[in-house]
Amino acid sequence: MKKLLASIGQMLFPNLCVCCDGYLSFQEDKVCDLCLYTLPKFEQLAYKDNAVAKKFWGRLNAEAATAVLNFNGSGDVRKILHQIKYKGNIDLGKEMGVLMGSKIVTMELHATVDFIIPVPLHAKRQNFRGYNQCDLLADGISEVTRLRVRKDVLVRRKHNGTQTKKKRYERFINAKEIFRVAKPEELKNKHVLLLDDVITTGATLEACGSALLEVEGLKLSIICLAAAT
Ligand SMILES: [Zn+2]
Repeated sequence: MKKLLASIGQMLFPNLCVCCDGYLSFQEDKVCDLCLYTLPKFEQLAYKDNAVAKKFWGRLNAEAATAVLNFNGSGDVRKILHQIKYKGNIDLGKEMGVLMGSKIVTMELHATVDFIIPVPLHAKRQNFRGYNQCDLLADGISEVTRLRVRKDVLVRRKHNGTQTKKKRYERFINAKEIFRVAKPEELKNKHVLLLDDVITTGATLEACGSALLEVEGLKLSIICLAAAT
């Protein structure tokens, strides 16, 4: 009966793949298997000196920094990022988190990370949007890796919405004031995996990471769903 109702529902309100607009089967979630398979992967994922890690050289002392997908500004990855950030596609956010988790379990850092910390939104923005896309990714990762997510240890003090038009140096100065670590005693001597949806210049992650590295004995690694390299 349940299946029959689902079939009728599917006919009336067909689920379409967010990338190719093709019909989804019952086994598929928000992205069809073919699109999932052909998404541009960040091939250097497990390579220590990869293009994402290099962005932080001389800026941030990270154990590891990497991404799962390659973002070139257009195409399917752009559609996915847009859906999870602005279109309230919560299921897609979790599905992408699960994809990230399936990569993380194969990596060395999986054995040593204590917590996942999603990059926070400012409270006002989160209330307006209703969710933080990085929290969705973190929940998906946790489902696969069983790593604990801490959404309460990093606080965003200001918006930085108009940053994109500023120069890199100005952006850094601005970003430095943005994040504050709450409960630093709980992060002492821990290895944390800082998580963002997309990395371009790395300014936001640098600001978050700098704040976290103020904690005594903390080790920092970084993972993003997508990287513009
Ligand atoms: Zn598709």
